[in-house]
Formats: sequence, C-alpha cells, structure tokens
Amino acid sequence: MLIGSWPEEVELLRKMVRDLAVGRIAPLVAGIEERAEFSQELLAVLRDAGLLGMVVPERFGGVDADLRSFVVVMEELSKVFPTASTVLTGHWFACKQIVRFAEADWKASLLASVASGETLGAFALTEPNAGSDLAGLQSRARHVGDQWSISGQKRFITNGGVADFYTVLARTGENRAHGLSAFYVEADRPGVNVGRVEKKMGLRGSATAEIYFDEVTIPFDHLVGTEGGGFQQMMTGIEEGRVLVAALSLGIATGCLDQAIAYASEREQFGKKIAAFQGLQFLVADMAIQTEAARSLTYDAAEAVIAGRPEAALLASAAKTFASDVGMSVSTDAVQVLGGSGYVTDFPVEMLMRDAKINQIYEGTNQIQRMLIARNLFGDAARS
Ligand SMILES: Cc1cc2nc3c(=O)[nH]c(=O)nc-3n(C[C@H](O)[C@H](O)[C@H](O)COP(=O)(O)OP(=O)(O)OC[C@H]3O[C@@H](n4cnc5c(N)ncnc54)[C@H](O)[C@@H]3O)c2cc1C
Repeated sequence: MLIGSWPEEVELLRKMVRDLAVGRIAPLVAGIEERAEFSQELLAVLRDAGLLGMVVPERFGGVDADLRSFVVVMEELSKVFPTASTVLTGHWFACKQIVRFAEADWKASLLASVASGETLGAFALTEPNAGSDLAGLQSRARHVGDQWSISGQKRFITNGGVADFYTVLARTGENRAHGLSAFYVEADRPGVNVGRVEKKMGLRGSATAEIYFDEVTIPFDHLVGTEGGGFQQMMTGIEEGRVLVAALSLGIATGCLDQAIAYASEREQFGKKIAAFQGLQFLVADMAIQTEAARSLTYDAAEAVIAGRPEAALLASAAKTFASDVGMSVSTDAVQVLGGSGYVTDFPVEMLMRDAKINQIYEGTNQIQRMLIARNLFGDAARS
C-alpha cells in the first residue's frame, strides 16, 4: 500500500521501526499474549531502540522528534503489536506534561533518565467516577506544611504498577476544571499502592491498573505547571494524543489489510484462489478504501496540528474517531477473510481485532469526539 510522502528522515524512522517490529517484536507476541502480562522483554526492545526517549527534547539529551515521527512509530508498531504502542503512549503522555510544564530542578535529571530509556512513566487521570467527565475527578492534593499530600484512587492506568513515576491530575480547588492541578509522583513514594491489575479483551501485554494514593507526601516543587492549571495543561497537546490514537488504529487497519491480501492470495476453495471471488474482492477493496481514507485524514490532522492550523482540533477528533472506527471494521473484516483461521490464534488478525476496540474508547470516547466536533461546528447552539 501507499505510504506517506513525509520527509526522508521520517521515512527512515518508519523503516527502522518496521524492521524492529518484524524482527524483534513479532517473535515475542505469541508468548506475551499467552501470558497476558506486562513484558519487561518488550520494554527492553522499545528502550534499546530509543523509543522511550524520543519524547525528550534535544536540550535535555533527547532527539526533538516531531509529531510525524510519533505517527510513524505508532503505525508501524501497531501493524504487528498494538500493545507496544500503548505502552509507549502511556509513557509519552506522562512525559509530555513534564516536558511542557515542569520547571523545578528535578526536571533535567528526570528527562535525562527518560532520554536514556531508564525511566517509564504513566499518566494517571481516570477515576472510578470520572472517565469521560474528567473534570469531575475527586483525588485531592492538599498543602501540608511545605509539601503536598495526595489522596485518591485512579483507574485503568496504562503502565500502572510498572512505571517509575506517575503524572497525576488531582483536585486542589473546588472549581471543576480550574480546580485541578498536575503532579509528578515517584512510584516508590510511601502511600502509592497498586490495586487491581485488569484482565482485558485486548492489549494483553500492557499493564492497566488501579493506583491508590494514600496520603502520599511529595515536595512542593512536584507541582507540574500552575496550581489550578492542570486541566488546561492536559488539553494542550490533546490533539497530538488523538492523532496518535488515529495512527495506532491506522496501523491495525493496515496490518489487517496486508494479512487479508496475503491469505486470500494463497487460500484455495472451489478449485480457485479465494482472491478470485468477487464477493471477497469487494470486501477487501472496501477495507483498502477505508484504510486509505483513514491514512489521509490522520496525516492531514497531523499536519494541521504541527502547523497550528485553526481546524487542528476538529481534524484531530475526526481522525481519532474515523480511524478507530476503521480499525474496528477492517480488523473484523480481516477475520472474515481468513474464515476459521481468522478466529484462532495462529494468525494475528484476531488479536488485532481485539486490540482495535480500545481505540474507540480511550483518549476521549468516540461519542465524546463527535460531541466535540458538533460543538466546534455549532458553537453555542450545540449547548442550548
Ligand atoms: C486499556 C485501557 C487503558 C487506559 N489507559 C489510561 C491511562 O493511561 N490513563 C488514564 O487516565 N486513563 C486510561 N484509561 C481510561 C480511559 O481513558 C477511559 O476508560 C475513557 O476515558 C472512558 O471513560 P469510562 O471508562 O469511565 O467510560 P464512561 O465515561 O463511563 O462512558 C461510558 C459510555 O458513555 C458514553 N458517554 C459518556 N458521556 C457521554 C456524553 N456526554 N455523551 C454521549 N455519550 C457519553 C461514553 O462514550 C461511553 O460509551 C484507559 C482505559 C483502558 C480500558
């Protein structure tokens, strides 16, 4: 299939990640899926390839990767193992807040250890009673002398229990959105406790855990950004997050399409390759149409975000929604093309179908994205 016509260095990165995914990650997939546990071996592959550190700017010892680079990493890894992409996005989102908004002395040493791949982060926003309605979250941070004390329960945290630090959103004031602040919390602080580790439909090699903060004391300078500014800070860059979930979904769709074409070109029934049957050809043609449309929208949204175009927010939501819906439908159709073989674990399309589902849910559900798009189109009329 066509690939993007992005700068040469981005396409070189794409090739490097493709080789990594096929050569180093693919052989690990079956074992990780079987064990359904976070894999230190996978983390080591991602770390050794420099992918944990690509979120760090050059002035802190990193590489200053732009959104195009993140997009191609998501795409290429997700063709083979979306779990790997999710481990990275949880880490990248936690780090981005620190890169953008932290100012204290610890920032340089933390980012140096992220750049070298020694440190893994997790982004802790969601709570049992605050998912889509994030501004309703209840975890609290209070001043205690010259420190902060954080208490609360977080849920569904990617890299929870394996991360070295959490970027946590907690309530410091009563105003819903303007009463939230972000904090850097080391995972080994007394009072940081790991609760249930979820058993999941997909992304089985990623850790998704409840994290309890029981009167966790942190220094005053662990506030990230401004007091009361946490929600707005999180919204800065949310378009990038949505583009990355679009790219993750695009990778799943592309991987499924490639496998459907390969299988249908070999499998014979009624004395012919199944690729010769028009009923199947049209199914695969529709998969290709959807995938290419998702690719165009995802790349266009990435360019809009990079250029700071006014329609960037709408395009990022549209790309996230469309590409994740495409990832779901193309992966489901790929299982169909492979017939019974698609339903068993011998071929990875069943895993890709299970992994596709979450992209319609996290980083703002697709219902929330459609709501945001409508607000963007209608303005105040959408709220009246
Ligand atoms: C595998 C996995 C990894 C995750 N990783 C992280 C992470 O690293 N960090 C983190 O903080 N969170 C993480 N999450 C949480 C994720 O972001 C939330 O699950 C998601 O935001 C949805 O929240 P919810 O599950 O509470 O669903 P709810 O908000 O309860 O939504 C339930 C349903 O109601 C719909 N709905 C809600 N409000 C509206 C509305 N106004 N209009 C129309 N429909 C609506 C939703 O679209 C959805 O269909 C993860 C979740 C999973 C499953």
